[in-house]
Amino acid sequence: MALTWQEARITATVPETARVRRLTLAVGWSEPFRAGQHVDVRLTAPDGYQAQRSYSIASSPMRPEAIDLLIERLDDGEVSGFFSDVAEPGDAIELRGPIGGAFVWDPGMGGPLLLVGGGSGVVPLLAMLRHRAEAAPGVPALLLYSARTRADVIARAELMRRDAEEPGFRLRLVLTREPGGRRIDAQTIGEALAALGMPAHAFVCGSNPFVSTAADLLVEAGLPARTIRTERFGG
Ligand SMILES: Cc1cc2nc3c(=O)[nH]c(=O)nc-3n(C[C@H](O)[C@H](O)[C@H](O)COP(=O)(O)OP(=O)(O)OC[C@H]3O[C@@H](n4cnc5c(N)ncnc54)[C@H](O)[C@@H]3O)c2cc1C
Repeated sequence: MALTWQEARITATVPETARVRRLTLAVGWSEPFRAGQHVDVRLTAPDGYQAQRSYSIASSPMRPEAIDLLIERLDDGEVSGFFSDVAEPGDAIELRGPIGGAFVWDPGMGGPLLLVGGGSGVVPLLAMLRHRAEAAPGVPALLLYSARTRADVIARAELMRRDAEEPGFRLRLVLTREPGGRRIDAQTIGEALAALGMPAHAFVCGSNPFVSTAADLLVEAGLPARTIRTERFGG
């Protein structure tokens, strides 16, 4: 069935990092959403010009009536600029979803679960981690997350708390622009696999180059291609 556009109201906006803003939207779904899915949003200017973009859902499917989006401000970004600087609680925007059938994790799929995110590519992985913690905490999971600096780590306090408190979850941060910074490479992938064991499912999300590099490294490390799912944000 074709998805229809609906009006969703922004109920809260919170700075998440210097470049990322969290928006909470009240939505009315025609079907439940799944961790990893995204929505399309559409903005219309007074002259009728329209711009449409996709944003992953960051919040857990167990809170279906209000979703969180985490939107990174891109330099000269048309739509991300609007959500960063202009959108306010009370505003209504056009939204359709939930969208996406391949890049999803349900508790019934089990694990071990390897999540590899670059920058804002961590957003759909957060939904998976949140759903896992609520519905399937026994599933082993590891998040390998590449960000520029510690201050750019989205949901940093939550991720560090989960790492400390959830026996089955491990966080591995790879910071590219801290002193001695590095990128995800064969060694970081190897260390993640040694800590987690061979994953039943690997989810990789981020910019086009990040996803290509990380997925290639996973295949080189011996993961069967059928266990790897990818989501590309562009760039
Ligand atoms: C399935 C899906 C889910 C997504 N989820 C999220 C999300 O949760 N959070 C989020 O912040 N973004 C997400 N994106 C990216 C988002 O859809 C937009 O592409 C992004 O916000 C840029 O739109 P803009 O209008 O601000 O920039 P534009 O005006 O379209 O582009 C501005 C400049 O940025 C470049 N650019 C465009 N996209 C990217 C990118 N992803 N990385 C680097 N440079 C880029 C363009 O080439 C251009 O130079 C997702 C994309 C997809 C396909």
